[in-house]
Amino acid sequence: VIHDVHLEPAHIIRKRSVDQPLRIYLHYDKSVSLLPSRKYRDLLQKDILPKAVRYWQDTLRVRATRVPIRLRRKCQSGKVGYENQTLFCRGECDKKTICGDITIPEEHLETCFCVDCDESSKGRRGPGVSNADFILYVATLSSERCRHGNTVAYAAYCQQERALDRPVAGYFSICPYFLSTSPQQTKQLLSTIKHEILHALGFTAGLYAFYRDQDGNPLTTREGYDNKPIYNRTLDLYQPSEKVVRRIERPNWLLQSGQENRSVWMIVTPKVVEEVRRHFNCSTLEGAELEDQLMNGKTLADGLIDGTAFTHWEKRVFENEAMTGTYTQNPVISRITLALMEDTGWYRVNYDNAKEYEWGKDLGCDFVKTNCYEWIKNKSERKESIHPFCNQVKWGQLHTDCTNNRHSVAVCNLVQHKSPLPEKYQHFSELEGVSSDDVKRFGGSVDLADHCPYLQELLWKSGDSSIRGSRCTEEHNNLDVKHNYFLEKYGNTSRCFNHDGMWHLQHCGKTVQTQHMGSGCYEFECDPEEGLSIIVQSKRHRCYKEGQKVSIFYDSTQLRHQGSIICPACNEICQELSIPCPDETEPPEIKVDTSNSLPPYPCHGTFLRVTDIFHVCYISTQVLLTQILIAKLSPTDILFNIF
Ligand SMILES: [Zn+2]
Repeated sequence: VIHDVHLEPAHIIRKRSVDQPLRIYLHYDKSVSLLPSRKYRDLLQKDILPKAVRYWQDTLRVRATRVPIRLRRKCQSGKVGYENQTLFCRGECDKKTICGDITIPEEHLETCFCVDCDESSKGRRGPGVSNADFILYVATLSSERCRHGNTVAYAAYCQQERALDRPVAGYFSICPYFLSTSPQQTKQLLSTIKHEILHALGFTAGLYAFYRDQDGNPLTTREGYDNKPIYNRTLDLYQPSEKVVRRIERPNWLLQSGQENRSVWMIVTPKVVEEVRRHFNCSTLEGAELEDQLMNGKTLADGLIDGTAFTHWEKRVFENEAMTGTYTQNPVISRITLALMEDTGWYRVNYDNAKEYEWGKDLGCDFVKTNCYEWIKNKSERKESIHPFCNQVKWGQLHTDCTNNRHSVAVCNLVQHKSPLPEKYQHFSELEGVSSDDVKRFGGSVDLADHCPYLQELLWKSGDSSIRGSRCTEEHNNLDVKHNYFLEKYGNTSRCFNHDGMWHLQHCGKTVQTQHMGSGCYEFECDPEEGLSIIVQSKRHRCYKEGQKVSIFYDSTQLRHQGSIICPACNEICQELSIPCPDETEPPEIKVDTSNSLPPYPCHGTFLRVTDIFHVCYISTQVLLTQILIAKLSPTDILFNIF
């Protein structure tokens, strides 16, 4: 990283208020134009990148930059000196200066600051980049990092401005194999790019020590000839002060073998503290916990950091927050992440652009200050729901459930691992149907979430391509008639409802096996007089009370469908629409059809038995965790690729 990019004098910049919309200048590396397919180039350059950049431009404000940005050249020998607390090269500057993997164009560069160097080799002073506050270099390089750990994209800042240390240039690179035009992957990519850009703009361990208060004063003491914070050689970064990151001891961290002392690292800046306390409803919460796990399975306690630890929110605590280290489902940029940007001292943020974030909301200190072992144990002992965690082991047939907000069909990510998990990740002392020896091998599939098991949206795949997701609210998740076993309907107004046991499907009088069971997406209606109704194939089924089973009988062109759906409490669904619910009543008795009066089985055409193999896969991008569990099923096998 190169510091001391000179824009305007500190006393001028500091006086400006932080009120100008951030302007990001995009520069594409030639690797982008070399992408083999035009549709991927267009997807990136005309769709996803402009969207991601526009989001941050709308969300962040900065102090005005009134001069062109001219970046600094790198010193060739690594020999440097300081004059007036500004670095210069002792000897020549490098012929080329790179930002990440990308060569910075000559026009963006300042002349070389050097002594004992040849005048002619100093390079020209380029025109720089005008009308911008940040230069973002974008590449699609198939680099070493793409091969390592199945990374999808990576990013970093590379030069910081001199007056207030704000990063003014950064890069990110997308691993080309990940490019896809499928709606799921496009959405995932957009979220990933927003995430990566934020690393470059400020959410990076290496920048914590440069954060400033609202008046522009450093939060970490500066000293020495270079006027920089102290460099921590073990961690390989400038050491942030305790005003920014603090190590918090949790002396009563409960494990199966008893209590132990656990250290967590937290961002403790004022806005972040305010936001996490409000979100989790825990007034004594010290800050926002940072990820402690490294890509190689070690933890921060081992004394090194990499691209995952320290630079993301802790997955166990923040799950689908967009700035956690792995993509699992429905990523949300919350007020907490925006608060961090404000606490850098470089930005003001527009909180209207934060999305509703539900994970852990109002669950209190018991949730946010403990591990999930203690939470699950205490809740189970009190016979309460262990939400947001789950304990349904996946056996045989895929059993789906609904996410807590009923926006998606989901599955508990509790799986059997190849070997016993470390004790700190063993969250169960017993599990139904699992021997006491084996129970140590069961845990959530997401290791950054400390293997805490929770409900996760899923992705239906065929071969390598994703066919559909499981969010009820997305219309493109609709199934064709032939595969719509549970008569589901996906769209804006759909929610997830649980099934009561197996559905019975028949074609020409023969039973058709389904590959999964448990829940589905349906439209619904709320009415102040009649309460909640679930709509299946345009037919309204009224819910008179919570737990009532609504029977479904329907002949589609291909299949006879018989099953039932369990009514949730009317309030759970209708409150969201501010429609009041009537008192619960007993449902009227329904006359049972005798088989004599049933119409003949649908028997048109040939129904393909369920031979097409779907792969269910937990979505994950930045870190793809490679554990594959194959669940044997009859008559066909489903592959669970658990990433
Ligand atoms: Zn990241």
